[in-house]
Amino acid sequence: MEVKKIAVIGAGAMGNGIAQVGIMAGFDVAMQDIEQRFVDRGVATIKDSLAKFVGKGKITPEQSDDMLKRLIPTTDLAAAVKDADLVIEAVFEDLDLKKKIFADLDAKAPEHAILASNTSSMSITEIASAAKRPGRVVGMHFFNPAVMLKLVEVIYARQSTDEAIQTTFDVAKKMGKVPVIVRKDSPGFIYNRVNAPTALLLQLILDKGSPTPAQFDAAFKGLMPMTPFELLDYVGLDIVLHTQDYYSKTLSKDYTPRKALKDLVASGNLGKKTGRGIYDWSAGRPAIGADNPTTEYDFTHMVALQVNEATKCLEEGVTNDPKDIDLAIANGGGGMGPFTLAQSIGYDKLVARCNELADKFGIETFRPTKTMQEGKIKV
Ligand code: NAD
Repeated sequence: MEVKKIAVIGAGAMGNGIAQVGIMAGFDVAMQDIEQRFVDRGVATIKDSLAKFVGKGKITPEQSDDMLKRLIPTTDLAAAVKDADLVIEAVFEDLDLKKKIFADLDAKAPEHAILASNTSSMSITEIASAAKRPGRVVGMHFFNPAVMLKLVEVIYARQSTDEAIQTTFDVAKKMGKVPVIVRKDSPGFIYNRVNAPTALLLQLILDKGSPTPAQFDAAFKGLMPMTPFELLDYVGLDIVLHTQDYYSKTLSKDYTPRKALKDLVASGNLGKKTGRGIYDWSAGRPAIGADNPTTEYDFTHMVALQVNEATKCLEEGVTNDPKDIDLAIANGGGGMGPFTLAQSIGYDKLVARCNELADKFGIETFRPTKTMQEGKIKV
């Protein structure tokens, strides 16, 4: 099926980013939100961002004008979706709200239209249950900022048809993205799932109080654009707490949020957005030095947990292609793919790291899988 017109529901951080990506790729895009001021804010963000592209010489002013002509901002849901071929929902992360919207979209969008959700954590199958066309409901998960990051996870709900998945995949390609198919609708899909146990390790270390975040991060300085604890602050500690809590209910009780993280969130210290979290952000990005690094942990501990979780994705059928996992991690903002790293570090060392962490914290989630122990995955 050829997609010409897209409707994006929600004009917030993700919605306006996705709408911009759509108009930049040549689609007609309706962007809908509940109030005019939210729509206006989304349009202003898109205009600012396009102006930056023009300023850098990446597009011409004429191209920017043409893109903006293809943007249709509105508060009217029926008008936004009435001639859409693909609808991408990006409203608040609230299951009841999403189900209500999908029932509405089902009634108002053309019969042939694919309905996609940009949810980060909810079951696409559950959302699809609100629509009478479950075969044409899929996940289309962009990463933040959607204009910059290339990964788009295209997720099968239980009843999604191959055709709906392929059409969504092709749209993401046309948007210049790197789409990766997620075959099983399961918590965290691929990218967030692979990174779930490293976030757990960080919250365990925070709770233990040693090494300090600064000592831990010092060991990672220069190895990645943002050090691990700094990244938690950047994402927002409330979001980290919420996702770890969600994984504690869906993946393993091991993820149960610990006191140190809960205390930070309860005290309103959420990270970058509140000016203080694990670090002080009041004067901008915290200055994290390479002095006094911990000798207890290094890069291989983090990689070991990522590779191990990636092998769980293969064992569970979240995807059957290790190359897709590496593609997802490399294009979702996470640096090199876990299996590429595993080949250069060596599975034996990583298996030992997993066992070391599992024993130290009494956390079976860290225990190496059969696939990990076999150490045969090559990309
Ligand atoms: P946001 O709070 O920035 O924007 C949500 C928007 O939805 C708001 O503008 C709100 O007015 C609008 N909205 C609420 N109810 C609506 C309705 N009934 N109809 C139309 N619009 C409605 O949130 P966000 O960060 O853009 O997240 C949106 C979705 O994208 C969530 O499901 C989130 O999990 C997912 N997501 C977020 C990120 C991220 O890093 N922010 C990354 C990937 C996916």
